[in-house]
Amino acid sequence: MDSKTIIAETDKYYLPVFSRYKVAFTHGKGCYLYDAEGKAYLDFLGGIAVNALGYAHPVLVKALSEQAAKLTHCSNIFYTDIQAKAVKLVSEVTGFDRVFFANSGAEANEGAMKLARKFGVSQDPCKYKIISAEESFHGRTFDTLAATGHEHYRVGYGPLPAGHEFVNYGDLKELEETMDDEVCAVLLEPIQGEGGVHPATKEYLQGVRALCDKYHALLIYDEVQCGVCRSGKWFAYMLYGVKPDVMTFAKGIGGGFPVGGFCVDEKYAHVFAPGDHGSTFGGNAIACAAVFATLSTLKSENMADKVVAKGRYFKAQLQKLAAKYPDKVKEVRGEGLLLGMDLKKKGGQVVTACLDKGLIVNCTADTVIRLVPPLIVTEKEIDEAVAILDQALAKF
Ligand SMILES: *Cc1c(COP(=O)(O)O)cnc(C)c1O
Repeated sequence: MDSKTIIAETDKYYLPVFSRYKVAFTHGKGCYLYDAEGKAYLDFLGGIAVNALGYAHPVLVKALSEQAAKLTHCSNIFYTDIQAKAVKLVSEVTGFDRVFFANSGAEANEGAMKLARKFGVSQDPCKYKIISAEESFHGRTFDTLAATGHEHYRVGYGPLPAGHEFVNYGDLKELEETMDDEVCAVLLEPIQGEGGVHPATKEYLQGVRALCDKYHALLIYDEVQCGVCRSGKWFAYMLYGVKPDVMTFAKGIGGGFPVGGFCVDEKYAHVFAPGDHGSTFGGNAIACAAVFATLSTLKSENMADKVVAKGRYFKAQLQKLAAKYPDKVKEVRGEGLLLGMDLKKKGGQVVTACLDKGLIVNCTADTVIRLVPPLIVTEKEIDEAVAILDQALAKF
């Protein structure tokens, strides 16, 4: 199929919920995607922080094909060898005792909030409130929308589940005024992704932690985007040294295979009794093969440390661009390979200019060019991306 046919057929049958660029990909290799006519695109979006190992990584390809030939799916009322391997490795790299597998980021957050509700109302029927941040993003299901601090995603879907409140991200005083004994959880991204790449400060997270302890509320981190070595640590909480009670993950953990989940310490391992929560596909054999292959590769390659070095290099290059175009670029923010270039006006034009020149980036929160390349990206590829961004900014 040529690009024109792919686009026409998709647009004819797919619900029009995405505003798509008119580019149709058929395959990828490393940090490059190829369209149906063979044109190469350097991918600095990585499926939105998903393709940690890029495309067609030999370890992931082998693990998935071998698992597909052995066992694809088996109910969670039984055990599988690959789930035993994956769950142990996730526990090790997250630093949590217990893990639950779901299939997406939203489902991971749903599960984490259900656990928090159960934890709260089992002490006091009024302890049900979940506080999250303005400009946060937690998913598209009803309850994750109810926790998402951005009107744009929520409008038209009411009534949303009750029991949610919002505070401004980074404002400890406001949280202090909002907290009370009815709060069962505070849900935060340690680095806001969709909201425009806003890292928290250590002092803020320390303060949030202390308030959660004071009111016996669970601190939940949504590490769906900033986790899995993206920040330069296995998980962003390690960057700040402030550990949550519950942490959710998804995006990068399956290297492109849909996997999500959450983890808790032993202390909260029995909030759910058998039958209280579950998933047909969660922790599926192929998903676990993807998780095991992705995480063991990141581990054996010391990827977190490499991301620190690559991120530092990339950020320095972006800061040079910011200095070159002071009337166009407001600020460069982020940690590791979760970087954002905040522009002084809407950035859609930069995205399309880059795309024309074979570089994939996206724009979030209207003005922020988000840069989340595969973690395997090289300095040479970073230079190539920066050169294209330079040209795009020159015309902007
Ligand atoms: C992407 C994202 C989600 C939602 O994940 P889905 O897999 O699309 O459901 C939730 N939280 C954060 C921080 C995200 O970046």
